[in-house]
Amino acid sequence: MKTIVILGSTGSIGTNTLDIVDRFPLEFCVAGLTAGSNHELLESQIRRFKPRMVALSDPSAAARLRERCHDLPVEILAGQEGLAQVASATEADLVVSAIVGGAGLVPTLAAIRSKKHIALANKEPMVMAGKLMQDEARRHGVKIFPVDSEHSAIFQSLEGHRIEDVRRLILTASGGALWTLTKKELQDVTPEQALQHPNWKMGAKITIDSATLMNKGLEIVEARWLFDIPESRIDVIIHRESIIHSLVEYEDRSMIAQLGLPDMRTPISYAMRYPERLPLDLPSLDLTEIGTLTFCKPDHDRFPCLGLGYESLRIGGTMPAALNAANEVAVEAFLQGGIRFTDISDIIRSTMQAHTPSEVESIEAALEADRWAREKAGSLVHALPR
Ligand code: NAD
Ligand code: MG
Repeated sequence: MKTIVILGSTGSIGTNTLDIVDRFPLEFCVAGLTAGSNHELLESQIRRFKPRMVALSDPSAAARLRERCHDLPVEILAGQEGLAQVASATEADLVVSAIVGGAGLVPTLAAIRSKKHIALANKEPMVMAGKLMQDEARRHGVKIFPVDSEHSAIFQSLEGHRIEDVRRLILTASGGALWTLTKKELQDVTPEQALQHPNWKMGAKITIDSATLMNKGLEIVEARWLFDIPESRIDVIIHRESIIHSLVEYEDRSMIAQLGLPDMRTPISYAMRYPERLPLDLPSLDLTEIGTLTFCKPDHDRFPCLGLGYESLRIGGTMPAALNAANEVAVEAFLQGGIRFTDISDIIRSTMQAHTPSEVESIEAALEADRWAREKAGSLVHALPR
């Protein structure tokens, strides 16, 4: 039996992870859960999965949860400190990192430093401080298993092969909700339109990232640090059907890929039980039914965020952290109706141009770049005409 903690248990990845626990009660037990402010859902998760400790980042939501759960043997913590405490729960073997955004960096690092293996969905910390996280993982004998479907596919396609035989990694991208629109049409897109992902049901932030292709920009950085491969050997292709989840090309020009219907429970369960595969009772992929798989090149003109992801890696240091923070601010402003869809990439580019990168020698350096870029991007948002 594996004892797990889930950071971000009320989100899309968090609830899918608990669905796996529900299906395999003899395989997993839950020691801790955390969320942002959704105390209602966290309460029902506490009643069902009986964790010893939980935390909400929002202190007033935590106070409400304490009132509601006074009859239960659960310790309820609050704030950053509380999250980090749950992330380091003594009995846990594995921490599923599924908070959205840079807010996951501190608790995920706390889990690594307390020697927990990580199932990593939360890609933004890898973008902010990937090298540091990998160095810390090595120092503490911790493995970071990818949950992101593309990185899980690459991880699976690397199994049994020599990393020195890899020629390049090829990440597939669905193209998101707005792939067929012209540059002009993209200007007037509403949040509702951008939130209509063709293949995956996910949280709002990553769904907008998929529509701008920033999700792939972030995933290049994630792949760079997860697999220790320079960005010049990471390619992206558009594959609208999301059946091939990514590929590895080897020096002999063989390509190995991983395929499946788009369902995050497959990569989540692989990360949770590696190297075993759990017998998931899900529909099988019927290739004869799918018939055709299509591929094309990304369009950097209509979707500049992908190129910004590459550029941030080429510049290096704190630049990816600045890109990530500016993106978080811009996506939030777009979701609130404050800016246009096409402003997102402009805000990120302007923030990057104004940023003076330094080395990510410590977590503080990444957090400082994050703070600086949020402030800069925020002022750019306010300077735009409404
Ligand atoms: P979501 O919005 O559905 O859930 C986010 C979770 O984080 C919730 O539990 C929320 O309460 C918590 N949270 C939000 N802000 C917080 C804060 N400031 N402090 C503490 N907790 C906070 O997001 P999601 O779609 O599940 O995505 C989670 C992460 O996984 C993201 O980094 C995303 O890029 C990555 N990911 C998601 C999918 C997917 O299918 N949803 C696929 C691949 C990767
Ligand atoms: Mg992905």
